[in-house]
Amino acid sequence: MLIPSALLPRDGRFGSGPSKVPANHLSFDATWMGTSHRKAPVKDVVGRIREGLHDLFRLPHGYEVALGNGGASLLWDAIPFCLVEDRPRAATFGQFSTKAANALRTNPMVSDPVIDSAEPGTALLPRTSEGVDSYLYPHNETSTGAMLPVKRIGGPEALTIVDATSAAGGVDFDAAEVDVYYFSPQKCFASDGGLWFAALSPAAIERIERLTAERWVPDILNMKLALDSSRKNQTLNTPALATLHLMLAQLEWMLEEGGLRAMDARTQASSAIVYDWAQRTDWAHPFVEKQHRSQVVATIDIDLPADEVSAVCRASGIVDIDGYRGLGRNQLRVATFPAVEPADITALLESLTWVGQQLPQS
Ligand SMILES: *Cc1c(COP(=O)(O)O)cnc(C)c1O
Repeated sequence: MLIPSALLPRDGRFGSGPSKVPANHLSFDATWMGTSHRKAPVKDVVGRIREGLHDLFRLPHGYEVALGNGGASLLWDAIPFCLVEDRPRAATFGQFSTKAANALRTNPMVSDPVIDSAEPGTALLPRTSEGVDSYLYPHNETSTGAMLPVKRIGGPEALTIVDATSAAGGVDFDAAEVDVYYFSPQKCFASDGGLWFAALSPAAIERIERLTAERWVPDILNMKLALDSSRKNQTLNTPALATLHLMLAQLEWMLEEGGLRAMDARTQASSAIVYDWAQRTDWAHPFVEKQHRSQVVATIDIDLPADEVSAVCRASGIVDIDGYRGLGRNQLRVATFPAVEPADITALLESLTWVGQQLPQS
């Protein structure tokens, strides 16, 4: 069974990680590929990314952008070494936030983590309690499509640390509300994987400097070394230059289009198309409770076999709309990242409606 080509989106990539990469970002003057990351052409790209993120996020005075190799997953292990004194409190409500919390549980520097958990499909901020020195939660839980506001938690002595991997660049927020806002570039920034980026507040920088001076920290997890390299527009070890190129291309496009407010409006409009369709379609139901529905990753429970729907779509060129495997629901998951054209979302849903007319309902 193949979806009629008149219904199909122009670009069929709707994956929640990695994101669709815009085709025009892949044809570029690549003469600086294969040159030293310690020299000007590459350092200029890193510098433009750091400045561009400053502008895009409207970072307050004193905030700095750091980067390094390893993606957001590496920071899950670096954070307990470099940012958590002893007593973190973290919220979990899906696979990514649970992995982040597990890195706190198992780290030898952390004696007493407190975890607040909620069911997938809902979301919660960590609760406050005495003596907590760092609060951690995801901006957008990519495995379930549940989103939270970025909001400072606890008193002035506590840091607020947000895994923004799938939200950063697609959802507006106030950077003054967060000390560490970290992400990988292969989601809203439509780049390739491999790097992490973090916007760090002065309090976070102070914490990193103090803890890494006091403790043994493996170099690759040492955020002070990462910060030192970042200040020179470099990375501790060799980065993927294509990832940097794609990141900069998307970032410059975002700024030209009107920055974070424009991206926020775009992802809100795209996700509304998906949720409105699910509400109109008798075999589709939004998974996440209304107040936490993500504007960048829409999850839709369906009454048709999701693997069959996904297989028909894949054969027709619509890819990566499967639910998160670890969640184990009969679900479709559609990224409405900035790189995805709203018209393609509409065409995707027309295609799904067609598939629904062909398959027997269960
Ligand atoms: C994708 C994702 C990660 C992991 O990113 P990697 O670059 O693969 O390490 C972490 N957290 C969230 C919320 C994500 O969406």
